[in-house]
Amino acid sequence: MHATITARGGQPTHGCHPGCQIQCSQIYNDKDGKYLTSGFEYETIWGLGADCCIEDLDDIAEADHIMDDIGVDSIETAVMFGVAMEAGVLPFGDGKVWCACYATKSARAHRSVVCLAAVPVSSVVFMA
Ligand code: SF4
Repeated sequence: MHATITARGGQPTHGCHPGCQIQCSQIYNDKDGKYLTSGFEYETIWGLGADCCIEDLDDIAEADHIMDDIGVDSIETAVMFGVAMEAGVLPFGDGKVWCACYATKSARAHRSVVCLAAVPVSSVVFMA
C-alpha cells in the first residue's frame, strides 16, 4: 500500500486536521494519479478485504470514498455486506459489484433492500 501510494504521487502519511502530529491518514490516488480517498483505515481494508474477499485495493479505495461521501461507517457497512455475501445475496470478492451497489441514489435505495433481505436469509444460513 505504501509503495502504491508513493508511486501514484499520494501521501503515505497525512494529517486530516491542521497541526496533527500523529498523521495516521493518507492520500490514496487512483491509477491516473487523481485523488481517490484519504483516511483509508485498516478496518475498512480488513472489512472489505479479508471479510468480503475483495482483493483489488483500488476497489476498496473506491468503496471507501463512496462510504465517506454517503457518511456511513466503513466497518459496520463492510460487515453488513459480508453477511449479505455469506447469505448468497451478493458474490464474495467482487468489489465492482460492491461499488455498483452504491453508485447511484436508486442503487443506494436498492442496496438497503438487498441488505435488509440479507438479514433473514443469513439468519437461516447461520442457524442451519
Ligand atoms: S484521524 Fe489521524 S490524521 Fe486525523 S487528526 Fe486524528 S490522528 Fe490526526
